[in-house]
Amino acid sequence: MTEPLLGFFAPWVIFGLILGLQAFVPARRVEGYARDEASNKPIVYRLNGLSVFLIVVAAWFAAGYTGVMPYEWLWEHRWSGLAGAFALGLIASGIAMVGVPARSASRLKDYFLGRRENPSLAGGRVDAKMYLYVAGAILLELNLLSFAAHHVLSYPTDPSPGVILYICLFSWFVCEYLVYEHVHLYTYDLFAERLGFKLIWGCLMFYPYCYGMGLWAVADLANPHSPAWYLVLSAVIFFSGWIFARGANMQKYYFKRNPSHVFLGLFKPQSISDGERQVLCSGFWGLSRHVNYLGEVLMATGLTLALGWPWLIVPWLYPLYYVVLLTTRERDDDRRCEEKYGELWHRYREKVPRRIVPYIY
Ligand code: NDP
Repeated sequence: MTEPLLGFFAPWVIFGLILGLQAFVPARRVEGYARDEASNKPIVYRLNGLSVFLIVVAAWFAAGYTGVMPYEWLWEHRWSGLAGAFALGLIASGIAMVGVPARSASRLKDYFLGRRENPSLAGGRVDAKMYLYVAGAILLELNLLSFAAHHVLSYPTDPSPGVILYICLFSWFVCEYLVYEHVHLYTYDLFAERLGFKLIWGCLMFYPYCYGMGLWAVADLANPHSPAWYLVLSAVIFFSGWIFARGANMQKYYFKRNPSHVFLGLFKPQSISDGERQVLCSGFWGLSRHVNYLGEVLMATGLTLALGWPWLIVPWLYPLYYVVLLTTRERDDDRRCEEKYGELWHRYREKVPRRIVPYIY
């Protein structure tokens, strides 16, 4: 097989390997928030994302060390890899529709948004949505490691500390998602979205190839010699965002499981209720209605700054993507919650008037 073809099919092979590992590596069984369409019972998930991640990353290091797949291989084949992942995302989105009754009058709309709620793979051992997130996260990590390896091997005597910091922060971002995989069973995609192009192509192509666009743009550039204070500031912005995103997600997660849970042993929950349902309005959920989205934008900003090229445009496309994604998602979620909670949601809006940024927006 020629090199470009190898590059094209590399993501297919990696995704296949991850699926096999997810099906067979021991997993914990966790009851989710989404319900099975037929039985209306909570779906039980097998979660082993972190173990699979560690196995694949260790295999990548071993392959690089032994020369089976040089560390820079994914960098050198990034364009053909991107094309392969793009094609796979298109094809898999079509396959996900086959044999499933239409959801709307438009096939294109069904293709984009999907028809099935929560399908599984590998004979029911792997949830398709959770697989996609794990697969995307792992290939993103491999790409980042390979791009960083290219940078370090290109400038062995003076590599950029910003690139190293970026890899550390991004690895934190990927790993902590996998550590808290069970918390993400309570997110919008899992209980409110169907499995279509948006999610499939998003996880197979966009997540592993576009989230690292900042490093893609600067891996070939020399060390910009950013001052230490600048790197510290980037990390501070990143971790401030992490506190908002992780803190809000955890507080809501505990609240949904036990509405009287005292968050971190310190924050007693305050909520408003219509007698039947309740909405949290204290802590992170009293700052704005989606302060977790602000956290994601801050993390992306910290990552972009860490690279040390704040005047280049391409690395800024990553936080910009979050601004566009999350401002539209917040509007969708707000509409969904208004439909679900009615008057209670109006009261929450009055009590917590800002959508994402406290005091501002
Ligand atoms: P949220 O975690 O904010 O979930 C929204 C849902 O939570 C609502 O539909 C509602 O559902 C419930 N809810 C909202 N407000 C309250 C409240 N005050 N009290 C109780 N329940 C409430 O959003 P997402 O699922 O979109 O995001 C989850 C995480 O994933 C976020 O941190 C987000 O930033 C992150 N994310 C990351 C992305 C990435 O690429 N890295 C992309 C998108 C999101 P219910 O019906 O259960 O009440």
